[in-house]
Amino acid sequence: MNPFGYLIRYGEIALKGKNRLQFEHRLMANIKKIVADPSREVYRTWGRMYVQGVHDDKTEEKLRNVFGIASFSRIFVTGKDHFQEDALKLLRGSVLKNPAIRSFCVQTKRSDKTFPMISPEINRKVAEFILSHHPELKVHLTYPDLEIGIEVRSEGTYLFTEKIQGRGGLPSGVSGKVLCLLSGGIDSPVAAYLMMKRGSLCDFVHFQSYPYTSLQSQEKVKQLFQKLAAFESNATLYLVPFSHIQEEIKEKCSERFRTLLYRRMMQRIATELARRSHALALVTGESLGQVASQTMENVASIGAVTSIPVLRPLIGFDKEETISWSKKIGTYELSIQPFPDCCALFQPKSPATKSSAQVLEAEEQKFNWEYFLEDALRRIVTPI
Ligand code: ATP
Ligand code: MG
Repeated sequence: MNPFGYLIRYGEIALKGKNRLQFEHRLMANIKKIVADPSREVYRTWGRMYVQGVHDDKTEEKLRNVFGIASFSRIFVTGKDHFQEDALKLLRGSVLKNPAIRSFCVQTKRSDKTFPMISPEINRKVAEFILSHHPELKVHLTYPDLEIGIEVRSEGTYLFTEKIQGRGGLPSGVSGKVLCLLSGGIDSPVAAYLMMKRGSLCDFVHFQSYPYTSLQSQEKVKQLFQKLAAFESNATLYLVPFSHIQEEIKEKCSERFRTLLYRRMMQRIATELARRSHALALVTGESLGQVASQTMENVASIGAVTSIPVLRPLIGFDKEETISWSKKIGTYELSIQPFPDCCALFQPKSPATKSSAQVLEAEEQKFNWEYFLEDALRRIVTPI
């Protein structure tokens, strides 16, 4: 038997009553996808999952990105009669890596109730064995430098030391599909990430105004998309040509409502795209009061054009909170690249901070928005 593998803990989903089984199956399927190799068995027992037959950095990197995993550990599978020796080896390996380790403790879980010793006895026996070889070490039960985990199971005994932090959240796919409006800014990638973390499958739509905006601006969005797609391999990016719509609004409508009229057209196009791709809601990076188009009045009058829910995970965030998330998920450095997206185009000198759906509808009487809606939908591309 291959002695390597991973033990996977999944905090939150273990608590979810009736949905638990569905969530666990989904998490298993998502994990199986990333270890895609039939020789590596993935199985589940007692609120834990196990991957057998692999230890490598690539797998760990991928496990770190699987939503629903609270933490995981590299495990070494050993026999029931020589786990003391193997625990000693494991400890020596850790001390070699980190000579500052001066104390340890042993924590055993015994799910194989036929095993003749109970957990505290195993803890004591293994600790004594280690101390007999390393009298310079100490046992510290509350703040050990190193914790040696032992799981005694019917199919073997598992040993581990390190716990690697997972992303938490819910397994990808348990919360339906949404369509995220992805600009090149800091906010919308974070909004999408937070939805993914709650188990939603995300597709992405970006409105671009090439040649007014640069190809670098498009490239930036593609790279942001690829960062986010590391968390969900089936995501699609839709690119919508938006410059005709902006030119028309610039020419026909009152300047101060421009940004709001762009936003309403974006929401209409996204709503139709969501219908076609079976997404149940739109997601934006709007945050209350952040810019003129995000006052309460304007959020309401932009949202008025769609009949599907518009989710705004950042609505109550300060910019600093969003920035710290974006650093954490690795999108910040991309987002701050100075290639403006279509929003910067024909920006009004003094944008309206208070609008109403009626006022914006009256503005929209000034151009044939239905035609432009259809036209944009016809020209959507999926570049990746
Ligand atoms: P971001 O940092 O996400 O660009 P922002 O604070 O700059 O946000 P706005 O530019 O007003 O805010 O955009 C509000 C939201 O509208 C964005 O978070 C995004 O969801 C959507 N949005 C704006 N521009 C685009 C675009 N070009 N393509 C797709 N969605 C967009
Ligand atoms: Mg923006």
